[in-house]
Amino acid sequence: MSSKTLDQFLNENLEDLKGKGLYNVIDPLESPNGPVITINGIEMINLSSNNYLGLATDERLKKTADEAIEKFGVGAGAVRTINGTLQLHIELEEVLAKFKKTEAAIAYQSGFMCNMAAISAVMDKNDAILSDELNHASIIDGCRLSRAKIIRFNHSDMEDLRAKAKEAKESGLYNKIMVITDGVFSMDGDIAKLPEIVEIAEEFDLITYVDDAHGSGVLGEGAGTVKHFGLSDKVDFQIGTLSKAIGVVGGYVAGKQNLIDWLKVRSRPFLFSTSLTPADVAASKKAIEILMESTELNERLWENANYLKDGLQKLGFDIGHSETPITPCIVGDEVKTQQFSKRLYEEGVYAKSIVFPTVPRGTGRVRNMPSAAHTKEMLDNAISIYEKVGKELEII
Ligand SMILES: *Cc1c(COP(=O)(O)O)cnc(C)c1O
Repeated sequence: MSSKTLDQFLNENLEDLKGKGLYNVIDPLESPNGPVITINGIEMINLSSNNYLGLATDERLKKTADEAIEKFGVGAGAVRTINGTLQLHIELEEVLAKFKKTEAAIAYQSGFMCNMAAISAVMDKNDAILSDELNHASIIDGCRLSRAKIIRFNHSDMEDLRAKAKEAKESGLYNKIMVITDGVFSMDGDIAKLPEIVEIAEEFDLITYVDDAHGSGVLGEGAGTVKHFGLSDKVDFQIGTLSKAIGVVGGYVAGKQNLIDWLKVRSRPFLFSTSLTPADVAASKKAIEILMESTELNERLWENANYLKDGLQKLGFDIGHSETPITPCIVGDEVKTQQFSKRLYEEGVYAKSIVFPTVPRGTGRVRNMPSAAHTKEMLDNAISIYEKVGKELEII
């Protein structure tokens, strides 16, 4: 028999969400998550995945993953510190450090896991963390886990950051102070003001932590936001994911050798959760090598992103102030946004609506993620569907 209290809690809350239209129903894909996807037997243009470079279905990565499975099997068999470290993991970490231009790197099972691992390995209840108010959920959870004092600053507001850094420093209350930010903010596509953040960090002796999940593979000719600003030796923690542009799954922290050495002995997911599978590691390493050899995919991503942005803007859509391929199409009203996304779906474009509380009230948007794998024909097709539905709902 199950707990009555639990049943009551679950049923009441599920009903509540459903009543408010906030219960998310998931559409399973019947195809790979490529530029075109199949859902319920219907093909549509996919503008919702983080597979920026199309690497999730790249033949070279698939072949490498197959070979790794043949040679090492499907699982790593243990946590990294017992005997779950294969030679492959070391090779991946060496390639990651080269890619990020840092002394060393450490791989984790996901980008989310990196933030669980790295923040609390260094920060504790005697410390403070200055955190951008729009930071990713995994950063927020990672900060909470550390038990440090969390001081939120207004989004990309450098005056606010400076004032709060000064106050924290001068209070004398904290042993260490960290500033932590997304490299690219995923809802608007804007880039963190890293040169100013680094300057403020130098002034107040802050530890710098940049989670570049959406910047890696995209900015800095692929190497990410920190490289884009030429700050590779000025940021203490560079977090990346292997799950977005890299197309596989996993995450990493890149930084100085002493930081990585410390994370290997003190970060709990490294010590207590089984390491990345051989296939994931081999495919990720291959992807990074491809990005280091050629900027072709990166260039195609930007070309497609600019093409889609131009097309939508010319039609009169409000695409916000994105500085990256992330292309929001801002509708405003929450109900209308959801209606817009639903009609796009019916016409053959898969682009998710994002509304309050994920973004501020009245700024509901449909978010588009163009990739290097889209053809001009697919994008033209998507733009004409946008035009039809936009006019129908009187958004343009
Ligand atoms: C997506 C994302 C993550 C999570 O990465 P996964 O590898 O999917 O777990 C972490 N941080 C930021 C900023 C992200 O955008």
